[in-house]
Amino acid sequence: MIKKILIANRGEIAVRIVRACQEAGIESVAIYSEADRHALHVKKASEAYSIGPDPVAGYLNAHRIVNLALATGCQALHPGYGFLSENPELARICARRGVKFIGPDEQVIRRMGNKIEARRCMQAAGVPVVPGSDASLADLDEALAVARDIGYPVMLKATSGGGGRGIRRCNHEGELRHNYQRVLSEARKAFGSAEVFLEKCIDRPRHIEVQILADEHGNVIHLFERDCSIQRRHQKLIEIAPSPQLDDTQRAEIGDCAVRAARAAGYQNAGTVEFLLDNNGHFYFMEMNTRLQVEHTVTENITGIDIVAEQIRIANGLPLLFEQHEIERRGIAMQFRINAEDPKNDFLPSFGRITRYFAPGGPGVRTDAAIYSGYTIPPYYDSLCAKITVWALDWEELVSRARRVLLDTGVYGVKTTIPYYLELLKVPEFRAARFDTGFVEDHPELVNYTTSRPARELAAVAAAAIAAQAGY
Ligand code: ADP
Ligand code: ADP
Ligand code: MG
Repeated sequence: MIKKILIANRGEIAVRIVRACQEAGIESVAIYSEADRHALHVKKASEAYSIGPDPVAGYLNAHRIVNLALATGCQALHPGYGFLSENPELARICARRGVKFIGPDEQVIRRMGNKIEARRCMQAAGVPVVPGSDASLADLDEALAVARDIGYPVMLKATSGGGGRGIRRCNHEGELRHNYQRVLSEARKAFGSAEVFLEKCIDRPRHIEVQILADEHGNVIHLFERDCSIQRRHQKLIEIAPSPQLDDTQRAEIGDCAVRAARAAGYQNAGTVEFLLDNNGHFYFMEMNTRLQVEHTVTENITGIDIVAEQIRIANGLPLLFEQHEIERRGIAMQFRINAEDPKNDFLPSFGRITRYFAPGGPGVRTDAAIYSGYTIPPYYDSLCAKITVWALDWEELVSRARRVLLDTGVYGVKTTIPYYLELLKVPEFRAARFDTGFVEDHPELVNYTTSRPARELAAVAAAAIAAQAGY
């Protein structure tokens, strides 16, 4: 049985995994770069070890991390998301060295990490796939020919892409010519592979993804779907479970489809199958993420299932605790990614010292943060600094509660996406639960908020001034 886990990650997700370990009576080992010496995951884990002075290199050094896991007596390693989480080499090294990798095996990660192979696998399993090229493109000429076949607009994508990078919409031939080399070099830089392919651009889609759990005995279940249509530049900002834009028939259909997809992939552990839903109610497989996702929290809120605890149970070789018909859901949950960014300045990262931080409280709130008062956000990493998840019985209550919760949150010293979300919550279409992946682009006015200080704070300032004047 697993008694000690090395967490090959940082930030809020490392803290999340420490929490799961604590509840299961498992020791945790954190790793940190010099820049992360004062990070929260270092303080919370049972043990923490430096992996060198470079801010990033240590987190990406699979051999060094696995050596450390062995040296510290860990039986397992949790990769979190980002960094090496979808790197088949880490899973391979773990398997060879006898450290249990908490995720699917190397081949599955490799196959699903290649979007072309993933598409082929799903097509063979009868899962509907976005129409597109069935191999990576040889050159621009082939791209132009394929695009003529599929019909514009098309999506040019990095075959090994992720994190919303290496994706470009091309509305006509001129744009495809213009973008081709750019996406190629972006893909080479970001993913170490210059392979690209084309997909038909789905018009105003909803991004709907399904959470999967699969044990090592062939049991596969889903934990319903998440609606991640609120995105900026293909990166998710807000995630909702279940989707307020699906009916129960669609929900059952997409859930079954995701289970079929996971079986076809030979999947084990927790994973996510991403789909695009078009305006005619058809959905298409887009990709499979072979790891825990940032937005797993909303699924935990509606099902009551601790996904990280389940991941560890599965890694222990135990069968799933539940059958599909036993999975229940209650209410609806929405997660806000609180990024240290300035929405008014094109969402430019806003790193620096958090002078004060107040987590929200009250009914229906969950906070997953990597910050504390006095903490300095280092400039080397992702700008996600906290996730706030709100739960309510229905959509209307959720929207009102979300506003209250965001107002209840205090992050001072850096700019964040909180005031942007407060504006977004006012938009009538959003309040009516009607939005697609174009929503953020369609609402450029949301950055025109004023961050006026609350009346009470101004009153206090005035009172202090009067007191000073009067010589109190
Ligand atoms: P989600 O888990 O919700 O899909 P993202 O897609 O934003 O979240 O990915 C989570 C994190 O992993 C982000 O920090 C993102 O930049 C990073 N990431 C995802 N895929 C890759 C990849 N293929 N290469 C590098 N980083 C990635
Ligand atoms: P990543 O691996 O970076 O997460 P995805 O393939 O999941 O990339 O796509 C990210 C986002 O880009 C989707 O959530 C969606 O908003 C948009 N997108 C991707 N493919 C298409 C498509 N064929 N048509 C329309 N939008 C798409
Ligand atoms: Mg994706």
